[in-house]
Amino acid sequence: MASQEWLEKDFYAELGVPQDASKKDIERAYRKLARELHPDHNPAPDAEERFKGVSEAYSVLHDDKQRAEYDQIQLMKSGRGGFGGFGGGSNINLDDLFGSGGPTGGFGDLFGDLFGRGSGGAHRRRRGAARGNDLRTDITLGFADAVKGTTTELRMRAPGECQTCHGTGAEPGTSPSRCLRCNGSGLVTENQGAFSFAQPCPDCEGTGTVVTDPCPDCGGTGAVTAERVITVRVPAGVADGQTIRLAGRGAPGEHGGPAGDLLVRVGVRAHPLFARDGDNVTLRLPVSFPEAAVGARIKVPTLDGPVTMKVPAGTPTGRVLRLKGRGVPGKGDLLVTVDVEVPAELSPEALEALEKYAAAAPPADRSKLEQLTGQ
Ligand SMILES: [Zn+2]
Ligand SMILES: [Zn+2]
Repeated sequence: MASQEWLEKDFYAELGVPQDASKKDIERAYRKLARELHPDHNPAPDAEERFKGVSEAYSVLHDDKQRAEYDQIQLMKSGRGGFGGFGGGSNINLDDLFGSGGPTGGFGDLFGDLFGRGSGGAHRRRRGAARGNDLRTDITLGFADAVKGTTTELRMRAPGECQTCHGTGAEPGTSPSRCLRCNGSGLVTENQGAFSFAQPCPDCEGTGTVVTDPCPDCGGTGAVTAERVITVRVPAGVADGQTIRLAGRGAPGEHGGPAGDLLVRVGVRAHPLFARDGDNVTLRLPVSFPEAAVGARIKVPTLDGPVTMKVPAGTPTGRVLRLKGRGVPGKGDLLVTVDVEVPAELSPEALEALEKYAAAAPPADRSKLEQLTGQ
């Protein structure tokens, strides 16, 4: 079982093995030291104390589960300087280290073992580095921009890193100082009956440092809410209702944690002529009966300007003709649906011509209908 003491102990040094030592190496080192230090054989005054230490180190490192827990605790410890380090230290995110996919089921579980707390999000502010919140907003695009992709500027009021202190919360020219309550360790010990538990220091929220001269612009929080202009690159082929995720463009993290994401929900305005079918653009093309019957070359609009399209002779109404490469760039086509129009009114000349046509043309094939109606 993990214990608070594990924080201070270096079991690898105790056994004299590297951190990536195999189980075999650990056994070998332990047997050798145990022989050397056994109080029955070794008269040195510190032999017994060292023997105990070596035995404890072995019992932890030899057990795969305990070793994994110990390694995580050590990682957490070594990472702490970076969490609140405000530059210099590496930016380690606890959620990355102990994410829910981790070997012991996540940071919450580890804290649960280590500090006698339950897991869950309620302790988020006490963890030190925390990822910033995701922000959400909407944009509306024209039809052609959605098909072809575009870069657009988005104005929104949102929290962002304070430009005066670059997110440290400390007044420029000053730096955060060591927390006096926990002496920079980020942990305080609390006694509960016979047990004592270490828990993240409430004064510095586990970071080990406190801001003594807060930045005047953000009041020491490191973040300010302001009107922001955010450049959004919209990929070609975005659909109405789709959400684009801009990684790291959300609210800034706390104590050196990474920023959240910006989620932009895209609305696409309807077009008077065109519509979308996945990556294809669709268009309805009215043609006259003679054009459909005889064939024609017809100028049709596309998002890249007009193109002359061949309607083959004998094209029925409803047939879909494809103009390659005139949809979402690299992915889609323009699908043109032929719509044969019937004139609502006829001039005397047109009527005369049609009567001639009817006399010359074969009648419509209704043989199947006649079979069914029994005539
Ligand atoms: Zn500031
Ligand atoms: Zn503290």
